[in-house]
Amino acid sequence: MARYTGSVCRQCRREGMKLFLKGDRCHSGKCAMERYPAAPGMHGTGRRKPSGYQVQLREKQKVKRIYGVLETQFRIYFEKAANMKGATGENMLQLLERRLDNVVYRLGFADSRAQARQLVNHGHFAVNGKKVDIPSYCVDAGDVITVRENSTDIEMFKKLREGTTRLIPAWLELDAANLSGKVVELPKRSDIDMSIDELLIVELYSK
Ligand code: SF4
Repeated sequence: MARYTGSVCRQCRREGMKLFLKGDRCHSGKCAMERYPAAPGMHGTGRRKPSGYQVQLREKQKVKRIYGVLETQFRIYFEKAANMKGATGENMLQLLERRLDNVVYRLGFADSRAQARQLVNHGHFAVNGKKVDIPSYCVDAGDVITVRENSTDIEMFKKLREGTTRLIPAWLELDAANLSGKVVELPKRSDIDMSIDELLIVELYSK
């Protein structure tokens, strides 16, 4: 599947905010948004006021970049969300949060969603005791995510066992000593701590 292969930090500069795509570096002085916050390209500074459509488009691009999802897959999430009960935008964010790669990242098993995606792809995790190597796998309330027995010696998992300073969202529960996490309940909008205006995306797709 085609993936964005350009500069990761450029994506943050394009969206004008930190998307936290690079793990520890994002929290350090090396972050490109700290050093060159202007949009990339020759006309990075002094752009004209964006149109309503551009604002909606940028919001969609931002969310796609945060979760590392391509257009077709993102559209599928939107359509699924629209067919669920409740607010479409919130449903869409909930579906994105429930992706296994996001859950692995949120639990602190990986420093970024990209790293989490790779760890899942390499088969290091099980859900309810069964190996799952599909990053888009949608977790449910009550699911237990564990590092598989053969993978517990990986350096970053060993570090996690010693403790983490990562803030684990209320809908998840981490048992660092046993390298496992539980989905206590499905995420609510208030659990998603990023600055996202999902209504702009709903408006964009409703045209
Ligand atoms: Fe974005 Fe992280 Fe790069 Fe900073 S270091 S620009 S937050 S990806």
